[in-house]
Amino acid sequence: MIESVDGAPSHAPVEGVLFDLDDTLLDLRAAQLPAFAETVRAQWPQAPEEGSAAFRDAAEHFAADLGGHYPRYLAGELDFPGQRLARARDALALLGAPAGRTEPDAALWTDGYEERVRSHWRVFDDVVAALAGLRAAGVGVGIVTNNVEAYQRDKADAIGLADVAVLVGSDTAGAPKPDPAPFLEGCRRLGLAPERVACVGDSLESDVRGAQAAGLVPVWLRRTAHGQTPGAGDAAVRGPAWDASERTWWIDGLGALAAWFPAAGTDLASAGDAV
Ligand SMILES: [Mg+2]
Repeated sequence: MIESVDGAPSHAPVEGVLFDLDDTLLDLRAAQLPAFAETVRAQWPQAPEEGSAAFRDAAEHFAADLGGHYPRYLAGELDFPGQRLARARDALALLGAPAGRTEPDAALWTDGYEERVRSHWRVFDDVVAALAGLRAAGVGVGIVTNNVEAYQRDKADAIGLADVAVLVGSDTAGAPKPDPAPFLEGCRRLGLAPERVACVGDSLESDVRGAQAAGLVPVWLRRTAHGQTPGAGDAAVRGPAWDASERTWWIDGLGALAAWFPAAGTDLASAGDAV
C-alpha cells in the first residue's frame, strides 16, 4: 500500500506504469541541441559561436518549442516537417541571420536534422535499471507519447526499448495527450484499471493533467538537470512526494519509484545510483 503523507490521497496499489517517452525515458534535449548546432552550421557557417548568448537562446527556443509550433502539429494545423521548419525559422531569426538565410533549408532541416538527431538519441541513465526492476516485480510497463505511433515505436526500438510492447502514440486513440483517450488505451493494453496505473512524465500539461483527467495516478518527473540524475543517497532514492498544489506525486528520478514497488528490489532502487 502506498503511504499517505501530508494530506496525499490514499489509493489502491499501483500495478502498472505508463511512461511518457520524450524527455522522460529518452533524453531528447541532449539529442536536439547538438543536432540543432550541426544543422545551423550546415546552413549558415558564419552563425554566432555556440557558446554565445544568442546561440544558446536560439537553441533553447528551438528545443523547447517556445514558439508553440509542436502543439499546432498535434492540432493538425502543421505537418511534422512544417512544425520543425517553423521552429528553425524562429531560431534563425533569433540568431540574426541575414536576409536570404532566415528561411530554413527544407532538406537540411527535415532529412538532415532527422539523421543527426537520431544519432544522438539515448535513454536517461536510470531507465534500464528502472524498467528491469519493474518487470522483475511483475509491474506492467508501457509508453504513452505525443507523436505518431510508428515514429515513436521506431524511436523506442532504436534506444533499446523494443521489449516495451505497449506503446500508444498521438494517433493511436484518436487524440493526443492531455486527452484521456491515449491514457485509457494504454491501461486497456496493460489490462489494468486506470486507478491501478501510474503515469510518469515530465510535462505538467500533457502528462500530469491528462493522467488526472483519465483517473490514473499522476507522477510528475522533474529531473534535476537534463541528462543527469541524482546520485545514491540523494533525492532519487526517496519515495514519490505529494505536491498538494498541483495534486500530483512527483519524483526527480526513476529510482524514486522503488518506494512504491518494494518487490522490484535492488534493480529499481539502483536506478537512483545512475550518474
Ligand atoms: Mg515529455
